[in-house]
Amino acid sequence: MIRVLVNGAAGRMGLQVVKAIAEDAATEPVGAVGITHIGEDIGELAGIGPLGIAVREGLAAALEEIKPDVVVDFTIPQAVFENVKTCMAHGVHTVVGTTGLTEAQRGELGKLAEAKGISVFIAPNFSIGAVMMMKVSEEIAAYLPDAEIIELHHNNKLDAPSGTAIMTAHKIAAARQAADAVPAPDKTHESLAGARGTVVEAVPIHSVRLPGYVAHQQVLFGGYGETLTIRHDSLDRKSFMPGVILAVKKAPKQKGLIFGLEHYL
Ligand code: NAP
Repeated sequence: MIRVLVNGAAGRMGLQVVKAIAEDAATEPVGAVGITHIGEDIGELAGIGPLGIAVREGLAAALEEIKPDVVVDFTIPQAVFENVKTCMAHGVHTVVGTTGLTEAQRGELGKLAEAKGISVFIAPNFSIGAVMMMKVSEEIAAYLPDAEIIELHHNNKLDAPSGTAIMTAHKIAAARQAADAVPAPDKTHESLAGARGTVVEAVPIHSVRLPGYVAHQQVLFGGYGETLTIRHDSLDRKSFMPGVILAVKKAPKQKGLIFGLEHYL
């Protein structure tokens, strides 16, 4: 049984993770950390009945007392780096869904994990369909290097563009480079600020934030007299759970940084 503490447990993703961990035969929720709903039973909050685990404040103290095997972090971009460093200091494997970690921060966390002989797994997207969307986009970019991304999320998302969109842009750029495929230059002369999106490695990314959406992304490719659009829709946060559970189960057997669910598929 893998003993799991969820950080950000009372959040939208955290509650789904608690439920998924409780329902899997090989994993067990043992702790819930957050900054609101303190003292409330996390099972009740997750809608699965009492688990006898109260939401508590303070990750370090919870780790010392509970000694989980794995921490799953779905908190906020501003807190995640310090959260993972705290887990590393306590020698605990970490599975990170929170977006916003920079490449330099990921590198630093990877080195800390290596030194401690533990693992830090970070995935901008835990949905298997989204990982496939990125894989296919990478393949197409070698033949159709002209690409733009439109990502659409709920209006409570704190960061833009999404980590998935940035990761997709990097993969497209790497595929173009490997294939020596060069996109056509952008001939826009005049535009209002932001009209052409933000540009990551010559891939424009357009971010939409509206109530009603969960997490969606379109990758549009243009060619001679043809276009190709790949679209992925996460319609429910449940879509992320098979990926989270897979990462939790792999965590105790890994060492150092693993970035992206594709490494486990
Ligand atoms: P959310 O509903 O706002 O949940 C975040 C939770 O973390 C809230 O309960 C929040 O408490 C709590 N929190 C904030 N600061 C904290 C801290 N320092 N320590 C412990 N808990 C803290 O957000 P969400 O929709 O669940 O998303 C969480 C993160 O996951 C975001 O970065 C989002 O982009 C990312 N995400 C990733 C994936 C993926 O596949 N990788 C999928 C979906 C979302 P309060 O509510 O009291 O502020």
